[in-house]
Amino acid sequence: MIQENIIAIKKELPPEVKLVAVSKFHPAEAIREAYAAGQRSFGENRPQEFAKKVEALADLDLDWHFIGHLQTNKLKLVLPYAQLVQSVDSLHLLDAIQDWGKANDKLIRVLLELHIGAEQTKTGFKEEEVLDLLFRADKYKNIRFCGLMGMATHTDSEEDIRADFARIADFRAYLRDLFPELTDFTELSIGMSGDWKIALDYGATIVRIGTAIFGERQY
Ligand SMILES: *Cc1c(COP(=O)(O)O)cnc(C)c1O
Repeated sequence: MIQENIIAIKKELPPEVKLVAVSKFHPAEAIREAYAAGQRSFGENRPQEFAKKVEALADLDLDWHFIGHLQTNKLKLVLPYAQLVQSVDSLHLLDAIQDWGKANDKLIRVLLELHIGAEQTKTGFKEEEVLDLLFRADKYKNIRFCGLMGMATHTDSEEDIRADFARIADFRAYLRDLFPELTDFTELSIGMSGDWKIALDYGATIVRIGTAIFGERQY
């Protein structure tokens, strides 16, 4: 089933859009199955689980993405292995990543998570916080700012989802005009199992799909 799901999604996904298969709560064997269908990029949202899977699958050439809330005391579980940290959601975390990158002589690629959905609980920066921080981007010598990530409101209203995606897409376009020196600021990671087709209309460059590939998660 996993393989069929990936093939079906790939068929509809423009070739320039990266599919990150969100494997959280699914076993390493499920990732091997996806790998056999040609899938290379995977996303996890819990540091311990992330590190365990990286180790268990070290024999495969995988492109790992971290997509969850990252506490500053868990950086060493994630930063050595993640090709992209998609979910930087606070200045405190960004500062800690910079310190870690400096101490380990590593450049960390990140997306800034923008709070776009209606949910109060969702994490992420406000637009003005992203602006403030990018005006001081020079300060973060060990961080490469690669774009924005966002999660639309969890709703059946397509209109609301479109409004959320339009907001983040417009903001990214605005930032690219304002900060042309940030030449890597190209990614827009929007779209999950329920809304990735809509996200394509707003210029998604990365979609993060879990359930539609691996089935329901067993929590
Ligand atoms: C779990 C998760 C996804 C995937 O969600 P599905 O609805 O299962 O596709 C995408 N992005 C983030 C940040 C997630 O935590």
